[in-house]
Amino acid sequence: MTIEIVETIEETRAAVARARALALSVGLVPTMGALHEGHASLIRQARAETGYVVVSIFVNPAQFGPDEDLERYPRPFDADIRLCERERANLVFHPASATVYPPGFRTAVEVHGLQDLLEGASRPGHFRGVTTVVLKLLNMVRPDIAYFGQKDAQQFRLLEQMARDLDLPVALRMCPIVRAPDGLALSSRNAYLDPAQRQAAPALFHALEEARRQVAAGERRAEELTKRARDRIAAAPGARIDYVAVVDFATLQPIEILHGRVLVAAAVYFGATRLIDNLLLEIP
Ligand code: AMP
Repeated sequence: MTIEIVETIEETRAAVARARALALSVGLVPTMGALHEGHASLIRQARAETGYVVVSIFVNPAQFGPDEDLERYPRPFDADIRLCERERANLVFHPASATVYPPGFRTAVEVHGLQDLLEGASRPGHFRGVTTVVLKLLNMVRPDIAYFGQKDAQQFRLLEQMARDLDLPVALRMCPIVRAPDGLALSSRNAYLDPAQRQAAPALFHALEEARRQVAAGERRAEELTKRARDRIAAAPGARIDYVAVVDFATLQPIEILHGRVLVAAAVYFGATRLIDNLLLEIP
């Protein structure tokens, strides 16, 4: 079966309806394109669990701040299609901005209490853009299962909350972070790094791994973890820390003593490029 590439909601719904008529379940992998092995792993998971795999490629203006990289965000469309073909996706939905946000568009989804923390504190309005577009994509495609990466763990936490609060008839899956051989989490934004920054960037991963080792050795004080992680990142040439946080994964609130499901999350600038990474821990 060859891959189908469509730009309209009507074509998407028609293609999904044909799949449903064949009794196929439907998986959706929402992306902003510039696809890498992290995205490929989501498509592969969708391929393994559902009969008809839709990949959406949409650089969502609503989730970019006014001073962020919307204009220069990479858009290597042909390479993206090749990756989708290689991973045997069935449909690529590549809507225009005016399709997603037609004139007169007025509605937004807000997840109060979770949207303004961590990434949301550094990027005001970001998560409103994310939750709104993901709800729209879910309504356009109506998948059985939608796939997201732990790379954006806070995003997944908000989407899970949105799905629960709005009774969305979809299952959401969070897939593991895919990394380069030196540990750097794959990201479309890694392409912005110059060679020296690229060499320094794995410090973020190493700091999280150090935290993992500390916890394995019995450390339960959040402050000890963040202190060591900050030192480790700060030692990397050109690194500027935005935040290093230890939070309860359910509430995203800072904790002092680790217990239950804990998210260790960090955001670090290398030059103008802001990278994020995280570690999810289950403390018995
Ligand atoms: P993006 O195109 O950056 O919006 O990402 C689309 C989806 O891919 C999101 O659910 C991300 O969390 C996920 N993703 C991005 N990078 C990775 C990675 N390195 N490993 C796993 N998933 C990822």
